[in-house]
Order: sequence, then structure tokens, then C-alpha cells
Amino acid sequence: IYILAIESSCDDTSVAVLKNDTMLSNVVASQKIHEEYGGVVPELASRAHQQNIVPITSLALAKANIDKNQLSAIAFTRGPGLLGSLLVGTSFAKSLSLALGIPLIEVNHMQAHILAHFIRAENMKPPSFPFLALTISGGHTQIVKVTNYFDMEILGQTLDDAVGEAFDKSAKILGLPYPGGPLIDKYAVSGNPYAFEFPIPKVKDLDFSFSGLKTSILYFIQKQTTQNENFIEENLEDLCSSIQYTIITILMGKLKKAVKKTGIKRIAIGGGVSANSGIRKALKDAEKALGWTTYVPNFEFCTDNAGMIGIVGYYKYKSGQFAGQETSAKARYHLTS
Ligand code: ATP
Ligand code: FE
Repeated sequence: IYILAIESSCDDTSVAVLKNDTMLSNVVASQKIHEEYGGVVPELASRAHQQNIVPITSLALAKANIDKNQLSAIAFTRGPGLLGSLLVGTSFAKSLSLALGIPLIEVNHMQAHILAHFIRAENMKPPSFPFLALTISGGHTQIVKVTNYFDMEILGQTLDDAVGEAFDKSAKILGLPYPGGPLIDKYAVSGNPYAFEFPIPKVKDLDFSFSGLKTSILYFIQKQTTQNENFIEENLEDLCSSIQYTIITILMGKLKKAVKKTGIKRIAIGGGVSANSGIRKALKDAEKALGWTTYVPNFEFCTDNAGMIGIVGYYKYKSGQFAGQETSAKARYHLTS
């Protein structure tokens, strides 16, 4: 089975070609344009998708050394995401499926962040069912019980900001460019995680809240910079390290609760923030200390990429879950709907 997969939910245009569960190509075109605005500008994102989608598709086919007539199906991200961005991928996928006379498969982006673990790749082994998935991305923070490929239940989620936003907004307060998550990670490596203490929010059960953290960082920085205008520069590494440590403490605390509640000790992370070196290390430590088995995707499958859309496409193809031409993009698309 050859699947061509298209991802256009946010600011990355990506196209992948899979042979069964193996990646033949996975091309990602990141949009640099948003950096100067300090965040993703939806209108610019959809225009860039329009410009990118045809050349990126040709490139993905060429890299895979596959002719479009060999394809078995077209998979695409239906949602959740920015409507204008989703529309570009959705209409392109629909016309391609129509033109080639092959089935269309719609994919939920958040399911894809979880099922990315099933891509056959070096250094990755798929978790066995059931497992707990912690999806940490730019728009979501969820703990999901995964009983089977398409049998998922959200056990807890954020009540306000997502983890990725917490990273990016904290970085913005520190004057770092967008997206700041990877930069916090970079500076945190050589900083002291205990240098500054930020409050851990009290949120019930397995839910999260990150908006208070951003506010307390903002007040703290404002207060310090009135006393010393070079405060951020002089303490950047310690600040990043302490912020990252706080976020990881929150995530690990909830994961421990989820393990206790479900008795499931297999933990798989997904989403852009799973590229973070601190969370990767914390999970490795938990394997030894708590007897968990943890699963971390390769970097290229953490942030948005069409490979993860393709793997969902493959499993949907095998179970005959196809979409019709009337299928529309869905900006809000619940994980289990
Ligand atoms: P969603 O998947 O919820 O629709 P998204 O697709 O925009 O959101 P992803 O691409 O999965 O999000 O993740 C992007 C987020 O990951 C950004 O907030 C970015 O700052 C964060 N991120 C990426 N690398 C790192 C890192 N090393 N440390 C911390 N955060 C990171
Ligand atoms: Fe994503």
C-alpha cells in the first residue's frame, strides 16, 4: 500500500509518501514569515500553504521515487487547526483523490501525534496496547488512554494554555523570538533549574493549567528588571532552566497520577514539545525510578509532519475507513469524534 499524506493544519506544509508503515519521504516546509510577527498569522499561513503544496508534493513523490499512479490512497489532516490552512490541504487532497481515482482518508491531527509511534523507523518501537499518551503541542495538552488504534479516551487536558504556548509565551517575556520553545530548551541545558522558583498550579484530577505560570513569570521579570535592567541577560540560562523545570514538574506530576489511576505504566509522548530534552530525560529517569516503559518519537515525528498523517492513513486504509468528497475541514475536531 502506498499512501500520500498531506499536513497543513498550522504553519508547516508537509507531504509524505509511505509504503505500508514505512516512510519513503517526509518533506516539511516551515514558514519563516511568522517569526517577524512573534506568532502564526493565519492569512499568511494559508497563502504560504497554497504556494508550497504543489512543489512539496512533487518533491515528496520524487524523493520516494514513486509515480503518482502507483498511489493507493490520499490521506490529509482534516483538523483541528487553522481553518484557512486546513482548507488548502483538504481541497488539494480531494482533487488529487478525484483525479487519480483513489480513495480519500481524513485524519485527526491529534490522533496522528499519538499514532506517530507506529511509524516503522530506526530507534522507535511501537507501544503495545493499552498505553497512556501525553500529547504536548502548540495547541493541546492531553493525557489520553489509548486502548487501540482508534479507541482513545481523554483522561485530562489543559483548561487554558497548552504546554507549547507556555514555552512560547515564557520565551516571549524573555525577549526570545518565536517559536521560543526550542530556545528555552537550548539555554536551559547550561542553567540551574533551582535558581528561581515558580508556583505549581493546583488543578483537579488529570487536568492542566499553564496560564498562571506565564503571569507569574511576567510579574517576576517586571519586578527584577526595574531593579536591574540587565536581569534577563545576566540570568537567561537559569531562567530558562527554571521555567523548563517547572513545566516538566507539572507534566510528570500529572503522569504519575494517571499511572496510579489506570495502572498503566506504558507512557508515549507526542506533539512538538516532546522534542524537549528535559522531558525526554525526565521520562528516562522515570523508567529506572518508577518502572515505567516510555516511548519517545524520533525528532522528525514530534513536530508537525505528514508522516504521522500517513501512518493513520495506513491503519484507516487497512480497516476500510474512507472519506467522501463532501468531507470538510474542521478547525475544532475532537480527538474521539
Ligand atoms: P497542535 O498539534 O496542538 O495543533 P501545533 O501543531 O502548532 O499544535 P506542534 O508542531 O506539534 O504544535 O508543536 C509546536 C510547539 O512545540 C511549539 O509551541 C514549540 O515551541 C514547541 N517545541 C518544539 N520544540 C521544543 C522544545 N525542544 N522544547 C520545548 N518546546 C518545543
Ligand atoms: Fe501538531
